[in-house]
Amino acid sequence: MTDDEILHGFATRAIHAGQEFDPTTGAVTPPVYMTSTFVQRSIGDLRGGYEYARGGNPTRDALQTQLASLEGGRTGLSFASGLAAEDALLRAILKPGDRVLMGNDVYGGTHRLVRRIFGPWGVELTTIELGDLAATREALESLRPRVLWLETPSNPLMKITDITALAEIAHAVGAIVVVDNTFATPYLQQPLVLGADVVVHSTTKYLGGHSDVLGGAIVTNDDELAEQVRFHQFAAGAVLGPMDAWLTTRGIKTLAVRMRQHSENAQAIAEALDGHAAVSRVYYPGLPHHPGHDLAVRQMRGFGGMLSLDLAGGAAAARRFAESLRVFQLAESLGGVESLVNYPSEMTHASVRGTELEVSDAIVRLSVGIEDVDDLLADVHRGLAALA
Ligand SMILES: *Cc1c(COP(=O)(O)O)cnc(C)c1O
Repeated sequence: MTDDEILHGFATRAIHAGQEFDPTTGAVTPPVYMTSTFVQRSIGDLRGGYEYARGGNPTRDALQTQLASLEGGRTGLSFASGLAAEDALLRAILKPGDRVLMGNDVYGGTHRLVRRIFGPWGVELTTIELGDLAATREALESLRPRVLWLETPSNPLMKITDITALAEIAHAVGAIVVVDNTFATPYLQQPLVLGADVVVHSTTKYLGGHSDVLGGAIVTNDDELAEQVRFHQFAAGAVLGPMDAWLTTRGIKTLAVRMRQHSENAQAIAEALDGHAAVSRVYYPGLPHHPGHDLAVRQMRGFGGMLSLDLAGGAAAARRFAESLRVFQLAESLGGVESLVNYPSEMTHASVRGTELEVSDAIVRLSVGIEDVDDLLADVHRGLAALA
């Protein structure tokens, strides 16, 4: 039996895939290989294929195996950050004159990367509302993009888009379908199984899970594309260091339990905020009135830990709410065990102000952690009380 057949369950694979104990000592946790190079038996006779750490390091390989297993992909490749992973992927598949079609709610840094780094090299970017399948089909047929890029749930409005339907219409025009799975994680949603060609992650968020390490990854079942990205990883060199790879691996081992608790806590907070007089709208796919709720039920196995709210009192109320919380700390980023509050229009989404991705200044985003839910609920009530 192969490892995959033995280690079939998600949580089991998260803990064991790529994590063989150390054969010389029996250490149950594979060591961190803090080395830049590897001694050869004779010229070109490598031990385990390892030569120089930009090309490969056992700690990074262990993480890559773990990532591939969780996403149901054959190849995982890790990078120094989510954007480094995206950059390597796009450089591997785009050439001047190519077009990228992207959801109008993707991560701002992804939009900035394509617009400001790839734009001057002749890559054309178009954004679109991916919830409108007819308009998306039309855009795909007229633009013939090389890449369709989507993110679901999206940031900060938690829009849910239909991966299966979009993959089908994009494949009909020969586009490569990339899904940024950072918000959902493979525990909640597996885009490759739903028809996507490539999954991208900022492992900085839920996969690492402890706000202590940056990283990014791509996972795919397309062997040719994997080889092209692997060549970029090696030849351009934005690799993840061994200590960062090890921290990420350690975080991933608890992904299943964390995601269940993130989802449970976020659901409770969404329900507590929903209908409150000071809140005009709560964006959380676990609420039945969320426009993507039914699709999320079909496509995901939980609704995740991210939610946003629109404050009835506008920008002033949003700022005051965000600055009144005490358990939720005011910081960018998301996906850690600790709860964070973010004011997108001035923080995470400042880079997309003035573009079609601009976010309302009445919106506050919460990354709901896995603290005791009663403490989190008391905290959001403290924030609401500050508005009275
Ligand atoms: C943070 C983030 C990224 C970028 O990842 P970095 O690790 O910060 O480079 C990409 N996509 C999404 C959805 C993110 O939240």
